[in-house]
Amino acid sequence: MNAHALVVAAGAGVRAGGGLPKQYRAIAGVSLLRRAIERLQAHGGFAGITIVINPVDRALYDAAVAGLALPEPVAGGSTRQQSVRNGLEALAGVDLVFVHDAARALVPDTVLDGLFAALSDPANDGAVPGIAVNDSLRRGAAHYQGSVDRDGLFRVQTPQAFRFAPLLAAHRAAAAGATDELAIAMAAGLKVAVTSGDERAFKVTEPEDFAKAAAMVTPALTSRAASGFDVHRFGAGDHVWLCGIAIPHDHGLIGHSDADVGLHALTDALLGTIAAGDIGDHFPPSDVRWKGASSDIFLAHAATLVRGRGGIIDHVDVTLICERPKIGPHRTAMRERIAAILSIATNRVSVKATTTELLGFTGRSEGLAAQAIASVRLPAQAGDDCQLPEQD
Ligand code: MG
Repeated sequence: MNAHALVVAAGAGVRAGGGLPKQYRAIAGVSLLRRAIERLQAHGGFAGITIVINPVDRALYDAAVAGLALPEPVAGGSTRQQSVRNGLEALAGVDLVFVHDAARALVPDTVLDGLFAALSDPANDGAVPGIAVNDSLRRGAAHYQGSVDRDGLFRVQTPQAFRFAPLLAAHRAAAAGATDELAIAMAAGLKVAVTSGDERAFKVTEPEDFAKAAAMVTPALTSRAASGFDVHRFGAGDHVWLCGIAIPHDHGLIGHSDADVGLHALTDALLGTIAAGDIGDHFPPSDVRWKGASSDIFLAHAATLVRGRGGIIDHVDVTLICERPKIGPHRTAMRERIAAILSIATNRVSVKATTTELLGFTGRSEGLAAQAIASVRLPAQAGDDCQLPEQD
């Protein structure tokens, strides 16, 4: 059976605010209309998808569907009923038609599957998704005027799916003023099944619905924290690099690169949040390219890897362990430098310092140590769920 989707996107959608028809407004960077089309394409059950638009919005439409393989859109009418009629009249060679609203862009496969299943029964002329009403229903405007029995009532969603020929005939015969295809089909005496709707197929209508829809399409983020540690030995020199800042000192730090222990510890911490090994794996000391290298490169690389996984760097904290040089006078510059390398706000960067009370190699000023911790959020991946043991 040749199934075709007809997506109605001709309305003004002014209730949703935002200064342009809601179907062209973005949900997490992608327009509502494009999301609706891509959702139907992803299902895989449709031989074609036709969009009904208001011709005055043609430029918005072209931008919204750029790169998608779609037939020429159909011009809508002054009412939704007329727009659907125009769309149906433009179709040919279609067995089943799913009439859908762009505003229900997030309809899940289960709803579409349920409609296809209902239409596999030859006894059904159509099928609509419905959700049982759980709230008590009352009638009244300013004052209570009585209750309504909710038994057998449901909220109807789209797509509404029909055998094409009977729906077209019903539309041609319909009086003006029908709210949806179900009403038109009922007036024509068609037999329509009610299948399972889904709250995810809710209609984006009010301004706050955009945030709700955006939350639904944004992958859940999980928190990760990881630590790093590094040591370099003091040697001859007149300055040390610490957290990206050159600090005058009576010694330097020995290392293959600029020996910036702060940035090295922090690089390892960031790599740890994505379990991507350590700094030596990415920048082997045996590689001459990194001889004398500024450690900015290492830290920026780790940040790029985290962001490549869709990660957000929430906070980093570095502790420098030494008797000298004094860190306090350079703390602000260090925080600003790290923030710049990571492209995050300075208030998300902490730099601390401590001594070891003259104990150990740092106390004897043989070397300088640093530890760091990084906190990030990453999109949840398959396998992230932990199984809790069964409780007795
Ligand atoms: Mg190092």
